[in-house]
Amino acid sequence: NVRVELINTGTEILLGSIVNTNAAWLGNRLFEAGFRVERETVVPDGYAISEAMRESARRADVVIVSGGLGPTSDDVTREALCDVCGVDMHRDEHVAEGLRNYFKRRGISIAECNFKQAMVPDGAAVLENPNGTAPGLVMPASERLPMFILLPGPPSELKPMVERSVMPLLESMVDGDIPRLRVFRLVGIGESDLQDLVDDSLHQVQGLEVAYCARIGEVDVRLVGNEVALKQGEARLLTLAGAYVLRPLGATLERAVVLYLKGLGLKAATAESCTGGLIAKRITDVPGSSGVFEFGWVTYADRAKTEMLGVPAEVLEEHGAVSEPVVKAMAEGALERSGADVAVAVSGFAGPDGGTPEKPAGTVWFAWAFRNGGTVTEMMFYPRDRESFRQMVSQKALIGMLA
Ligand code: ATP
Ligand code: MG
Repeated sequence: NVRVELINTGTEILLGSIVNTNAAWLGNRLFEAGFRVERETVVPDGYAISEAMRESARRADVVIVSGGLGPTSDDVTREALCDVCGVDMHRDEHVAEGLRNYFKRRGISIAECNFKQAMVPDGAAVLENPNGTAPGLVMPASERLPMFILLPGPPSELKPMVERSVMPLLESMVDGDIPRLRVFRLVGIGESDLQDLVDDSLHQVQGLEVAYCARIGEVDVRLVGNEVALKQGEARLLTLAGAYVLRPLGATLERAVVLYLKGLGLKAATAESCTGGLIAKRITDVPGSSGVFEFGWVTYADRAKTEMLGVPAEVLEEHGAVSEPVVKAMAEGALERSGADVAVAVSGFAGPDGGTPEKPAGTVWFAWAFRNGGTVTEMMFYPRDRESFRQMVSQKALIGMLA
């Protein structure tokens, strides 16, 4: 298998001024094409580039470098390549002509420093850049060194160059089975329990890689392998933890909910307080959700709960808005007024302040009212930042609709 390493250059990445989207995009794109990026290095502009190139060269068959091909004095990737390969540069008249035309078409005069971009390391091939001035460069592999591919930093230039010139070059190098990625989403189980349940069994599958990614209220299981390994892995995962796996396989929770309701011909309604409409938002994120969702209320104040959902003022007075009787009345009011088959209600203290000594911030009550099956309630305590709290509450509210 071909070992690929990535070097992204730019002090601005290390300063946190820009996000390294080139690495994410390349990692994904190369994986699709059958390559694993085995390591990614981010280095500042300057001499560190040649150091990183030497280091990667010891391990990799292909080293892809992004950035630092511009005309300014801090763009030194070209020089680094010469340094590492022990070659000189020459001016490529074809590239120089292309640069002149590029500027002429835009009606601007060309600065002398731009011709730096016409300098090509001896032995390297030029990759055309129709979207900018910096051409890409490919230095073929030698006995001693891997192939180096130098790409411009701006994503709008890098991506088309990869599609047009780099992929054809790399695709001829793929050998054997291309590994594929399969993502399963699981809800209702934490990552530690999940690992205890499935990890040993999954690791027995030949050539299967397993990774877990915990997110708020859900865990992703990522399986990587060839078709045979993936099939076996999937079968084992479904046997051991199938009850937690969202369907259709790989679907987001909101999509799983919409398709589940659609399959049963049911309609849902929401009555939200602390989530401010997030549950309805997530349902309606799914194309085709209008088939299962007609009504959603955001009843933030007590008055709204009474006027819009018919929660009796005395119940609010006696128990407070964050209480079992209130969410129950909210869910049943929503069910009644919408004519839906299932209505979910949430009321909680999102925090960071607020709450009461008995019900501190993070306390939330849920109710799910079913047209033919009564009302289920539950309390949860989730003292986190506001954003995570809301995400978690919407998560649990949606999971309850799958019942
Ligand atoms: P230029 O000719 O524009 O100078 P360059 O090859 O020298 O091209 P850089 O100077 O390194 O590229 O980067 C130019 C811009 O491209 C950066 O300011 C940034 O906005 C974007 N960029 C560079 N590297 C990355 C990266 N890894 N991820 C996302 N964006 C990037
Ligand atoms: Mg630059």
